[in-house]
Amino acid sequence: MTAPHLAVETVDKLLTTRFAPSPTGRLHRGHAASAHAAWALARAAGGRFVLRIEDIDTTRCRPEFEAAILADLAWLGLDWDGPVWRQSQRGPVYREALDRLVAMGLAYPCFCTRADIAAAASAPHGPEGPLYPGTCRGLDPATSAARQAVEQPAWRLDVAGALARTGPLRWHDAHAGWQAADPLAGGDIVIARRDIGTAYALAVVVDDAAQGVTDVVRGVDLFAATHVQVLLQALLGLPTPRYHHHGLVLGADGKRLAKRDAGETLAALRAAGVAPAAVLAGLGPLTGR
Ligand code: GLU
Repeated sequence: MTAPHLAVETVDKLLTTRFAPSPTGRLHRGHAASAHAAWALARAAGGRFVLRIEDIDTTRCRPEFEAAILADLAWLGLDWDGPVWRQSQRGPVYREALDRLVAMGLAYPCFCTRADIAAAASAPHGPEGPLYPGTCRGLDPATSAARQAVEQPAWRLDVAGALARTGPLRWHDAHAGWQAADPLAGGDIVIARRDIGTAYALAVVVDDAAQGVTDVVRGVDLFAATHVQVLLQALLGLPTPRYHHHGLVLGADGKRLAKRDAGETLAALRAAGVAPAAVLAGLGPLTGR
């Protein structure tokens, strides 16, 4: 009578990678590199490669870009397993994760504007700009409740409090080795934006777990973001995947590619008659930083 249990275990451990683009523009060679590396890792292991459209930011995402992503992946010959997930359809799941963090006393409402944060004279700076100075962390409950009655707050993670709860954490990167998680370096990040009710870090950890992702393959530009994602996984009781942060594909000018580099998009390469195999071959081996 152990067979069903064993079957679940086997499925749970199936190596699963994902490609998780945001439909805010056309895919370029850098996306092709990431998607191909994730796909190849899964296919070599007889595992699964899943696709997730990260379209929570309704102010920037457009359906035509999503359609173009699917077409570009098909053109590259990268097939995915199972249905395409769309984060825009999963709001209640992210809300539930936020509610749990609030109930643990580790998320707090924040009413600060960007200008408030930039103006805080003592605001220390992290890699992504000014770190949140913690203005709303100690807001008394009565003031907070009164403000919430009239305005929608953002929600921030009390990172120091969360770390005190979990203790030291570590994660593994295939290129850089074991890392001691250092989420404090990013400050009290927003885990739910006031306009969309969630945020990248929260949605990404919830979905990586829900899709059974065992191996996250993505660019090294997201290396620093991993520290707090690992913290969120520990708080929510979710497994921490293995990470594979690869170097970024650079343009002819030596700079990293951006969605605005029209000439580097897969659409432009296809229109210029470049074969998909040539695009993939031209990416070279992907290594760490
Ligand atoms: N959606 C993110 C992007 O397009 C990638 C998220 C991730 O790989 O964790 O940059």
